[in-house]
Amino acid sequence: MKLSQRIQQVSASPTIAITAKAKKMQADGEDVVSFGAGEPDFDTPQFIKDAAKTALDTGDTKYTPRAGRQLQQTIAEKLARENNLSFSPEQIVTTFGGKHALYAAFQAVLDPGDKVLLPAPYWVSYPEQVKLAGGKPVILSAGPDAGFKITPQQILDAADGAKVLVINSPSNPTGVTYTPEELAAIAEAVLKTDLIVFSDEVYEKLIFGEMKFVSFAALDDRLPERTITFNSVSKTFAMTGWRVGWAAGPKDVIAAIARLRSHETTNPVSFAQAGALAAYTDPRSAETIEQMREEFARRGRHMTERLRALPDVRCVEPTGAFYCFPDVSAHYGRTLGQVKVTDSLSFATAALKNAKVALIHGAAFGEDRCVRLTFATSMEQIDKGLDRLEDMLKA
Ligand code: PMP
Repeated sequence: MKLSQRIQQVSASPTIAITAKAKKMQADGEDVVSFGAGEPDFDTPQFIKDAAKTALDTGDTKYTPRAGRQLQQTIAEKLARENNLSFSPEQIVTTFGGKHALYAAFQAVLDPGDKVLLPAPYWVSYPEQVKLAGGKPVILSAGPDAGFKITPQQILDAADGAKVLVINSPSNPTGVTYTPEELAAIAEAVLKTDLIVFSDEVYEKLIFGEMKFVSFAALDDRLPERTITFNSVSKTFAMTGWRVGWAAGPKDVIAAIARLRSHETTNPVSFAQAGALAAYTDPRSAETIEQMREEFARRGRHMTERLRALPDVRCVEPTGAFYCFPDVSAHYGRTLGQVKVTDSLSFATAALKNAKVALIHGAAFGEDRCVRLTFATSMEQIDKGLDRLEDMLKA
C-alpha cells in the first residue's frame, strides 16, 4: 500500500526498538543486560493501584468529562503548590502521556515550514513530532564539551523566523539539568524574541543533589503567556504504562489541544485518571518519590564512576533523570569482536553482540559521539553490564 508522504518521513522510536530487541534476546534465553529502557524499574505504588481498582469496582468505566475536570483541578493545585504557577483548570489538558501532549501541542501551534529550535542532544520524539506537524526542526548543538547545555546566545542567533524553542531539563538523554540561574539566562534571551517555549518537565522530581527544580514559566511574569508546560505521571510515580500526561498553558492553545484530542483519543482512561488523582493528592507520594530519587542518585553516581573508569570514555555527570550519556567516540575506528565500530550505532551493535549489553546509540538523539545508558536498573545489573563493557573495550 502506498503510504502518505507525511508518515514516510517519520522513523520508529529507536529506543523502543532496541529495548524490544534486548527483551526478545532475553526471552530467547540470552543473558542480556539492558540499559535501554527509559522507565523507572520500580513498580507503581500500591495506593495508586488501589485507587484505580476502586475506580473500576465502583463503575468508573465510562467517558470521563467530570473526572477529567477533577484531574485538571488537581493538576492546577499541584502547579500552584509546587511550581509557583497559577493556572485555572481550563488552562490544563490531560492526554495519553506526556508524549501525546507534546504531539498535540506541535499540531496545535505549527504551520507548514514553521521552525522549531531543538537543543541537541534531544529526546528522540521531538524532531519526528515536529515533522509530523509540518514543522522544521532546527538543531542547536550542545555537545559534551558544553556539558550538553545550550547558551542564551545560541537561542538569540537562531531565533529569527523560528516559532518554538523546546527546553527539557532534566534531560533525556543526557541527565543534565540547567541550574535556576542558567534557566533564567535562557528566559532572558527568550524574552528578547517572539519564541514560544515548550518546557518538557517530565523529569521534574528526579534531580540529584541540592539543586531545586524551577518551572520555566515561573521565571518571569511574561513567560506563562508564551510557555506550554508538559508533564506526566510516568517518571514521577513509576506509572509509564498508565499513559496519563498533561499540558498547561494559555487558554487558547490548551482549548485547541483539547479540540484535537476530542477527535483523536478523547480523555485518558477513566481508572488511570483515578490513579493519577491519587498520585497527585495522596500524602504517601512524597515519600515514594524521595525514595526513588535517592536510589536513582546513588545509581547515577555509581554508573558515572564506572563509565569514567573505562578506557577513553568521557562522561558528563548526570544531575537528574536516569541516564548517562558517555562519549565513546575515541573507540571509533576500532574493530570490537567482529564489528567494525565507526559511529554510535555500530558501537551499540558491538556492545549488544560482544558484551550482551543493550544501550542506545547517541545518533538517535542527535549526538553521534555518545551512547545512552539508563540507570533505572539494579546496581547488580549496572555492575554486570559495566564489567562486560570494560572487558570489551580493554580487549
Ligand atoms: N519527554 C521526555 C524527555 C521523555 O523522556 C519522555 C519519555 N521517555 C516523555 C516526554 C514522555 O513520557 P510519557 O509519554 O510516558 O509521559
